[in-house]
Amino acid sequence: MLKSTGIPNEKDLESVIPPKERLAKGPVAIIECFEKIPCNPCYTHCARGAIKEFEDINDRPQLNYDICNGCSICVSHCPGLAIFIVDETYSDTEALVKIPYELLPLPVEGSFVTGMDRGGKPICRAKVVKVQNPKFQDKTPIISLAVPKELSMVVRFLSLEDYYSDSTIICRCEEVTLGEVRELIRKGYKTVEEIKRISRCGMGPCQGRTCQQLIMEEIAKATGERIEDIKVHNYRPPILPIKLGRINGGEKNE
Ligand code: SF4
Ligand code: SF4
Repeated sequence: MLKSTGIPNEKDLESVIPPKERLAKGPVAIIECFEKIPCNPCYTHCARGAIKEFEDINDRPQLNYDICNGCSICVSHCPGLAIFIVDETYSDTEALVKIPYELLPLPVEGSFVTGMDRGGKPICRAKVVKVQNPKFQDKTPIISLAVPKELSMVVRFLSLEDYYSDSTIICRCEEVTLGEVRELIRKGYKTVEEIKRISRCGMGPCQGRTCQQLIMEEIAKATGERIEDIKVHNYRPPILPIKLGRINGGEKNE
């Protein structure tokens, strides 16, 4: 598969993906270098000696998963952009994937981008947790993305375009699309409360559990404000939908 499409398939990847037990211990490098080429900076830059000494400059790198601590030094020194760091211990539901990224502009920490697979297909929405671009990385920044854990071995690139399009319904209770919210922001409504009152987004039974965060992200993108500084909308009781019978006292609240 690799020879005909340039994209490794599951069989190709078997040889570079560490066992589950190692992934459960913390960050580790995934070296997706499949060709025998005259190149070895990954080996020469790994201060821990986690990559086996090359007997021939054309050798493929062989990683000792137990010695590698996922420090990511090799990521920015690989001219083929073939090394990624995966940390499946990042959270209960998400993994952290560190990706070398040589395009401009760089994504902004805290923003959301589209996680893509090895073939460039959009796969998920991913949060940019960190952007590392110090001088010693020699113009190969490393972007840390939080992705759903089950996609830790799938996401290998990113697009700054948002995964959601204008037609995506972000408030299922009131059937409001992201495009409608973006249009309101363009018209000058820049608070969650204003957008909620005009579009009814967040007024449904779930009280904005999904849409509120998305509205805040859209406002942050348009205004440059930090998401943490954007005020959430006013909650009005009941926070959860309850039957009128309960309010009447006709049904016991268990
Ligand atoms: S992540 Fe660090 S320890 Fe692991 S191979 Fe790369 S440089 Fe070596
Ligand atoms: S530096 Fe990158 S391209 Fe070169 S051998 Fe190592 S992994 Fe392969």
